[in-house]
Amino acid sequence: MQHVYDLAIIGGGINGCGLARDAAGRGFSVLLCEMGDLASGTSSRSTKLIHGGLRYLEHFDFRLVREALTEREVMWAIAPHIVRPMRFVLPYQQGLRPAWMLRVGLFMYDHLGGRQRLPGTTSLDLAADAAGAALKPGIFSTAFEYSDCWVDDARLVVLNAVDAARRGADIRVRTRVLGAARTGDHWSLTVQEAGAAGTETMATRVLVNAAGPWVANVADLLASGTGHKVRLVQGSHIVVPKLFAHDRAYLFQNPDGRVVFAIPYEHDFTLIGTTDRDFVGNPGAATISGGEVDYLCATASACFASPVRRSDIVWSYCGVRPLYDDGASAAQAASREYVLEMDEAPGQPPLLAIIGGKITTYRRLAEAVVERLGPHLPERQGLAAGWTGRQPLPGGDFDVGGFDTLAGALARDYAFLDAGNVRRLAHAYGKEAWRVLGEATIAADLGRSFGASLTEAEVRYLITQEWARSADDVAWRRSKLGLRLTAAEMAALDAWMREVIASPQSSRPVG
Ligand code: FAD
Repeated sequence: MQHVYDLAIIGGGINGCGLARDAAGRGFSVLLCEMGDLASGTSSRSTKLIHGGLRYLEHFDFRLVREALTEREVMWAIAPHIVRPMRFVLPYQQGLRPAWMLRVGLFMYDHLGGRQRLPGTTSLDLAADAAGAALKPGIFSTAFEYSDCWVDDARLVVLNAVDAARRGADIRVRTRVLGAARTGDHWSLTVQEAGAAGTETMATRVLVNAAGPWVANVADLLASGTGHKVRLVQGSHIVVPKLFAHDRAYLFQNPDGRVVFAIPYEHDFTLIGTTDRDFVGNPGAATISGGEVDYLCATASACFASPVRRSDIVWSYCGVRPLYDDGASAAQAASREYVLEMDEAPGQPPLLAIIGGKITTYRRLAEAVVERLGPHLPERQGLAAGWTGRQPLPGGDFDVGGFDTLAGALARDYAFLDAGNVRRLAHAYGKEAWRVLGEATIAADLGRSFGASLTEAEVRYLITQEWARSADDVAWRRSKLGLRLTAAEMAALDAWMREVIASPQSSRPVG
């Protein structure tokens, strides 16, 4: 007899993988289908902040801001390797938002969300503080400095999937859902793995459409629940060589009311973004426009002492926000709240669509989804609601203040690694770094070197434990080594991976 999953999820972004983890931990049998790589959609293309969203206070989104602020310390605690606190310098600029407004906003920011470990807001004299040295002289004299957190967004997605799989979830990557139909008390799902000649049929009691910016396309495939109110808003970032030496980020105000972040990135770079622009078309084909590049360069050049030119850009990326269409006129004003749309009728298996949301609040969204679906799910012996905020993600089982201790232990155990590589591996894998490096005592034990400190041992780990199938998966989502690998090195890595994955002797990939 065909196995009937309790819950099937379409989409392996943060919302799909976060839900898979929560539901699997609660004892439900879970299937997740992702048509590409995990996090290949919007979830690897964000600004990478676990933040309350200072700007959303202007739109009176207090519920969202409170929930998001609270999540900062929860996320830091469950994933202290990939989440870290960051201080943000918000310069005051005459003629833009008045100082009293910034002060009130930051006071609320400090007090709305149960802040315990993150330091509160302070004022800076930019003439005396190192943060002032990088800025254009004569424009800014004071600033506010406040706290939020930074996250490796793509690794957050993958670690949720890894944890879900360890708790029994069936995670299928490069597996597209082609359609689904209600068959008696369950859904029959038609899926196709990339490269496979035929399709496969799977059965599930409950179906969740977590396809992010593709949510409406997937709804069309399901012959049910079309007409979701989705507003697609494109946002882009540019990466340039490091513009300042300290580890704080900047939040600049633009005269048109929008804001732009400049964030220390991958040690040697600065990440600048983002934009807000209505998008129509295939979200997979979205690319940064010339206008967005000019806007980001102009905003950064107006604030930093050295201008940011097109020729400085080493990488850029573009993502599409799947926002709930609340009728706001400007794209940047559209709400970042999530909405759960349920298609249910007595005696029929339900379909739930997720619209909107943030990386920051994915865990709470997953809880809300499981609660909403509760009446349709069977009784299972699993962990109680809220468990995802208490149990660490893979590799994150160490204290929030313990990163340096962890990196120190890794450096001692693998004394042949250079300091930069130790920190990279400790940040990416946390306590799982020991599994990546195994019994190695000299560099040669890690096997082939692909460039930019990437070794065969790490790539094999990513293939067998994290569903990596191509060089892009490794270099742009499991890591950001794509910033350092040459085109020839990427091609060699890709060819090697294809050979290993095809070879019957290689360890079988997880997915
Ligand atoms: P996605 O990540 O897009 O996942 C959906 C997945 O569904 C995709 O991987 C896709 O391949 C898959 N899929 C689609 N159709 C099918 C099918 N038929 N079969 C199988 N799979 C399918 N949030 C924050 O909290 N902090 C930030 O700093 C932040 N910055 C942002 C900046 C920008 C520019 C953007 C665009 C967003 C930002 N966000 C931020 C918001 C956040 O990134 C998104 O809300 C979140 O990533 C959406 O995740 P998702 O899982 O819904 O969608």
